[in-house]
Amino acid sequence: MLKRHIPTFHAQNVYEIDLNKLVDLHIKYVFCDLDNTLDSYRQKTPSPRAVELVKKLKELGIELIVVSNNTGPRVEKYASKLGVTYFSRIGKPFPRKLNKIILEKGYSKDEIIIIGDQVVTDISFANKAGIKNILCEKLVKEDQPTTHFNRLFDRPLRRSLRKKNLLKEF
Ligand SMILES: [Mg+2]
Repeated sequence: MLKRHIPTFHAQNVYEIDLNKLVDLHIKYVFCDLDNTLDSYRQKTPSPRAVELVKKLKELGIELIVVSNNTGPRVEKYASKLGVTYFSRIGKPFPRKLNKIILEKGYSKDEIIIIGDQVVTDISFANKAGIKNILCEKLVKEDQPTTHFNRLFDRPLRRSLRKKNLLKEF
């Protein structure tokens, strides 16, 4: 396990996060993974709870932005139905594209939290960029086929994080 694999926080899933804690941390933007974090990869349009989450965040002055490695059409369709900004093919775990976007948009890294379900992509990505993050458990059992390979690394890493008491509950 490397330092970049250690999440800032851990949560069961994005829907069980105490949103007021995000306010306490002065978060303005939640950069959220899509597949198996917000919804199953089979879910083409946002579930009611995803819609509700965006609404609740908005009420707290927080914007949810979908940040995905998945292709444009998948992310675009989902995010536009959800009424949120999105960045597809973001290149996780490499933060180059993300850093460019942050610079262009004038976001401050302190105001961002990255939420995702994979240590090797989402958490590495966030840590490399120097952004706070929350590791979630898989929302549904089934992953898309392209994720199966990553899980070979994700599972033992997660076990080790747990064993070493490195999962700090959000
Ligand atoms: Mg995911």
